[in-house]
Amino acid sequence: MKHQDSEKTFKDPVCGMELSRTTAIEAFEYQGKTYYFCAGVCREAFEAEPEKYLRPHRQHGLK
Ligand SMILES: [Zn+2]
Repeated sequence: MKHQDSEKTFKDPVCGMELSRTTAIEAFEYQGKTYYFCAGVCREAFEAEPEKYLRPHRQHGLK
């Protein structure tokens, strides 16, 4: 099922907020992929440590 791109939602990798093209304030390209963020602070946090936010699984029990 194909939807138009504009209906697509993105997840802010830093805070986990669901974003659409219209609500995403900031974008950052990393390793050929574009990530969207709710705010400049989220983008800056991602930019500083992208690997930290791109881990597919959170490590449990690590505090
Ligand atoms: Zn955010």
